[in-house]
Amino acid sequence: MEEETGKINSNKHSCPVCSAVRDNPDAERCDNCGADLSTMRSLEDFTQTLLFEARNDIRQREFENARIKLEIASSLDEKAEITSRLIGAEIDFLNHQYQKAQAIYEEVYESGFNASPWGIDFESKIAELKNIIDIEFAAKEHFNLALHRSREGFFEEAREELYKASDMAPYIAETYLLAAKVDLSLGALSAVFDDLVRFRQLRPDDPRGISMQRELECRNHKSHILNNQITFAVCFIAFAIAVLIIIASIK
Ligand SMILES: [Zn+2]
Repeated sequence: MEEETGKINSNKHSCPVCSAVRDNPDAERCDNCGADLSTMRSLEDFTQTLLFEARNDIRQREFENARIKLEIASSLDEKAEITSRLIGAEIDFLNHQYQKAQAIYEEVYESGFNASPWGIDFESKIAELKNIIDIEFAAKEHFNLALHRSREGFFEEAREELYKASDMAPYIAETYLLAAKVDLSLGALSAVFDDLVRFRQLRPDDPRGISMQRELECRNHKSHILNNQITFAVCFIAFAIAVLIIIASIK
């Protein structure tokens, strides 16, 4: 842990030969021992380019590409490690992993890292995250209340709580899954499909969403079959009556 903090604090560049701090990070030679720093400099430039590209990827929401670039940057240059983590926190932020992002921002902030070249204002970012996390906490309380109400059979009340939860934190998938179950109990079938669509947008691979969708499709299919049977029966009766009328009129 001590070593990691050390890395975080090594915000300044140093000479690999004599370890002297390089006051001018662009210099090709060490001011202290005269060592050739050109190879190191080009590696640093490359790392810096990777970090900038990663940040652009994040803006384009290409998180997978960004993660790879950040990983390569930190493996090439240990000074880039803390910057990579800081840039990577934005991915957590955009993925609604607010507590994870907050932990990184706070840790980097406390280490005294200078983030102004990256346009990051720690204090406002941390305050923004705190606010979001508080709202998320309140949304989860509404969700828990909805869960209790639905278990007690108070579906209307449960639905109200779920509306509040989804207004506050629309990115929480669980809200829509419970809403689908509650709407099903309320007999609001089109609402069930809406809930399910939102759940599956947020969690495309979640088996619960997939199985509920299949169950609904099956139910829909059965009601179609039933409708077809009723239509057939009505047509058959009408046909029979018509035949009887024709027979009667012939006599
Ligand atoms: Zn040196």
